[in-house]
Amino acid sequence: MPQPKSLYIHIPYCRNICDYCSFPVFKGNIVPDTYIEALKSEWEMILKDHQFNPELETIYFGGGTPSLLNENQLEELITYFTKWKNNNSIEITLEANPTSLLKSKIHFWKSLKINRISLGIQSLSDNTLKTLTRTHSSKLSKNSIQLLKESEFPSFNLDVIFGVPGQSVKQFEEDLKYILDQNPTHISAYELTIEEGTPYAINNIKQGPEDDVIAMTEILDKLTPQYGILKYEISNYAKPGFESKHNINYWLNNSYFGLGSGAFSFINRTRSSNERNPQEYIQLIEQNKLANVFEETLSDENYARETLMTQLRTVKGINCSEFKTQTDYNPIDLIKGETELFIENNLMTISEGNIKLTATGLKVANSILKNFI
Ligand code: SF4
Repeated sequence: MPQPKSLYIHIPYCRNICDYCSFPVFKGNIVPDTYIEALKSEWEMILKDHQFNPELETIYFGGGTPSLLNENQLEELITYFTKWKNNNSIEITLEANPTSLLKSKIHFWKSLKINRISLGIQSLSDNTLKTLTRTHSSKLSKNSIQLLKESEFPSFNLDVIFGVPGQSVKQFEEDLKYILDQNPTHISAYELTIEEGTPYAINNIKQGPEDDVIAMTEILDKLTPQYGILKYEISNYAKPGFESKHNINYWLNNSYFGLGSGAFSFINRTRSSNERNPQEYIQLIEQNKLANVFEETLSDENYARETLMTQLRTVKGINCSEFKTQTDYNPIDLIKGETELFIENNLMTISEGNIKLTATGLKVANSILKNFI
């Protein structure tokens, strides 16, 4: 398997932990310098272990809240990790929260050649934000979008959530129209899912009514193309040329590096994840130990099946000959006998070396894909 070309760096701190959040996050509003050192040491250990000298095409700072990194820390990380960048170009994404977005910060990020911001606005309704236990207001979200626009950031994504209890279809449509009017290059729209172990699950909070969720998906699919923003994955929409290269790499099921507490890596078909607690992660790295707490190596068939599932999440679907080169399997053989009903019901098409879900199929992708496991 080729060396990974994508690097994910996890910044695990948030000022407030939202009740629906299942990410590996801890309460805090500063990132300790020891964490920055640990990220660099972990990287050196991984490169040494695998004898790698990668040429990175994407670096993604996710969280948590990467916008909590101070200027010195971010400059240090970017200067250090871009030593391994591909010569031609690199996509550098930073996730930001409206509560830690300032005009001066945005200009500094631009000067560091960060070329993509992903802003977690989630909703423009104060009631919905309250239900989500987010601490920012609709007004702050709107101000943050304005700051990004004024700074002429080359590419910015706005994250929204739908299917929140109490969120009306009308409100969601108004939010979406406002967002689209702001001319973002990318929108990620996630249906709220209730994850085990979160306060939402413990308090038995349920997603909004199914009919509303379907109506909101239809509104997304109807309005986004009117603004030249096209769906390219179940939850992702972009202007042509502004699709997230980092996330496309995940959906192709290619390998990637992941650094930091709770981060996942996928190298040589082995998936591993790190200790979730940042303090314990730092301690392990300081003792020159890799912080892996979980590891699984996929069999050839499992890798092929997983690749089938991730690629079918995209609008383009599967290119059968590229799939065969990547996995050694013919995708048709993997789904044989299970597709007729989907094709008859206009949920899937197989033609000219390509397998994909139709627009209707993508709306019910999860129930289709579980048949191919
Ligand atoms: S801001 Fe995002 S990462 Fe942080 S707790 Fe909330 S949902 Fe989780």
